[in-house]
Amino acid sequence: MIAFDGISVRFGGATALDGVTEEVAEGELCVLVGPSGSGKSTLLRLVNRLVEPTEGAVRVRGVDVRAVEAARLRRSIGYVIQSVGLFPHRTVARNVATVPRLLGWPEARIEARVREMLALVRLDPAEFASRRPRELSGGQAQRVGIARALAADPDILLMDEPFGAVDPIARRDLRAELRRIHAATGKTILLVTHDPGEAIELASRLVVLRDGRVVASGGPSEVLGGGGAFVRALLGGDAA
Ligand code: ADP
Ligand code: MG
Repeated sequence: MIAFDGISVRFGGATALDGVTEEVAEGELCVLVGPSGSGKSTLLRLVNRLVEPTEGAVRVRGVDVRAVEAARLRRSIGYVIQSVGLFPHRTVARNVATVPRLLGWPEARIEARVREMLALVRLDPAEFASRRPRELSGGQAQRVGIARALAADPDILLMDEPFGAVDPIARRDLRAELRRIHAATGKTILLVTHDPGEAIELASRLVVLRDGRVVASGGPSEVLGGGGAFVRALLGGDAA
């Protein structure tokens, strides 16, 4: 579904990614994990062209993303970030409807889809559809962010530290919710976290980054079993 082929990214003199080649299969929940500054967000943002590679290419279903107009590409890929970024003056329903509206869906279809998406993230539409973002808890706002990202049925969902800003209990619920949504929808999900426990709990595939390079990748047990000292130090504590 997603291929990173010989990717390097440099910002001025600084190297954010250095020779990354990785593939993410359709339906995978692939977690990018590594210390702060290791290049996780940069790798994620290549997929929706918020970052361009200095070398190499990113392909989605075999098509170089540079061949696709950026705005169109971004409507076809869900993106969830830590700060959520809900439109504060719009209701929950209007927020969730953002991309379907841009795509010109008929009103009745949008309304049905909003209800379906809110139910998927377990927010009762009758209670939440007309609220404003300031009337939501952190965990609820994050759920709305996920509903919005999935509303136009993208094949790929990119999530950058999606639960970073919520309290530990809400985070546990949201992880369970994400696993359920992944199982229910079969989306290809690429999720960034610096939290090893979260990475191991969620991943069907793990990619461990250090200083812009992939130091281990594969199934979680494979990575935990076969990783070197750095991988054990990063992931070992929470895995035991
Ligand atoms: P992570 O998400 O793992 O914390 P990032 O991908 O955000 O890491 O950053 C990797 C490296 O690239 C860091 O050293 C960071 O400072 C640098 N970097 C990221 N984005 C930019 C940018 N737009 N301009 C300059 N340097 C950047
Ligand atoms: Mg980051």
